[in-house]
Amino acid sequence: MTDTPLGEGTRAVRAGLPETRQYEPTLPGPVFAAHFHLSGDPTGPYMYGRDSNPTWTHLERAIGELEAPGETVHTISFASGMAAISAVLMSQLRSGDAVVLPGDGYQVLPLVREQLEAYGIEVRTAPTGGDAQLDVLDGARLLWIETPSNPNLDVCDVRRLAAAAHAAGALVAVDNTLATPLGQRPLDLGADFSVASDTKGMTGHGDILLGHVTCRDAARADEVRRWRKIVGAIPGPMEAWLAHRSLATLQLRSDRQNATALALAQALEQRADVAGLRYPGLPGDPSHRIAARQMRRFGCVVSFVLPDRAHAERFLAALRLVDDATSFGGIRSTAERRRRWGGDDVPEGFIRFSVGAEDPEDLLADVARALDEAAAGRS
Ligand SMILES: *Cc1c(COP(=O)(O)O)cnc(C)c1O
Repeated sequence: MTDTPLGEGTRAVRAGLPETRQYEPTLPGPVFAAHFHLSGDPTGPYMYGRDSNPTWTHLERAIGELEAPGETVHTISFASGMAAISAVLMSQLRSGDAVVLPGDGYQVLPLVREQLEAYGIEVRTAPTGGDAQLDVLDGARLLWIETPSNPNLDVCDVRRLAAAAHAAGALVAVDNTLATPLGQRPLDLGADFSVASDTKGMTGHGDILLGHVTCRDAARADEVRRWRKIVGAIPGPMEAWLAHRSLATLQLRSDRQNATALALAQALEQRADVAGLRYPGLPGDPSHRIAARQMRRFGCVVSFVLPDRAHAERFLAALRLVDDATSFGGIRSTAERRRRWGGDDVPEGFIRFSVGAEDPEDLLADVARALDEAAAGRS
């Protein structure tokens, strides 16, 4: 279009749009098709609906343009983030291989670990902070990174880990769900696979589940696509279309949500009833130094610890503008007492707060009032 690189907001609103055609819509609607007209030898872009769909093609192009601006990359979209994660693991690992997973990552990873071990794959874990995964890389086939980690918001140095992994002959995948490609671009930092749950900030409305894998290498992309075909973890056309429509506002949403997240973290920093505050965008946060080197935005998730379970529950119940719900990245703020799930290694009063797109003054006032009420023993 132009020789000057486009800004992120411009790229987000135009990402993946097909060429302009008279009387056609800008973003074509979802194509609902199990099969396509196909005569003669079966070749061509669209034959059967489990292999490909024009609505996926548009979405996959859009995501690729955000993951790696100006490059040709391969994106494969999936029915959920877990489908995308499993596709990389299952297509790249064989029995006898070793894989390094974060010990403090997404709460389904322990289940993944059990399954991989049942298939004869050795699983090693190490925490995200302090680049601890470096110590268990030897002989591994794949290094799986999640940074910032969820829900503790620790950060590792992706460039450094990826270089060490490649030197040791391992592939590198980054779960980029929390950051989104506007927060950090794993492929530029040296990863072979950028993987995400698009259920969260990427689509941002809390109304669809979706995921994707992006990589530069065509052969690896084919392996991941083959896995999608085998397990059939395909996105529905309606979800794919909604996701593409939602990507147009990714920069608007991220800027608003991330700025308010920083303001919330700064306000929480002042309170004596709040401990263990974490936000990678806070200059004093243990993650900040590395985060500032590899992230362009620090995300919308803030975590902190209230004195105990009852205090945390009073706080959540007192909030009026924030839904008590899991997940994150949506335009409506949500918060939850993370320990209720049992999996994460966090205190009983640990709150994971996902900042939405409300007016910052309203949100901060609601949180301050709810904290006051919780501290006073009311809810
Ligand atoms: C939510 C999440 C997933 C799983 O995504 P689904 O879309 O729920 O399958 C994976 N990784 C991280 C970091 C997540 O937050």
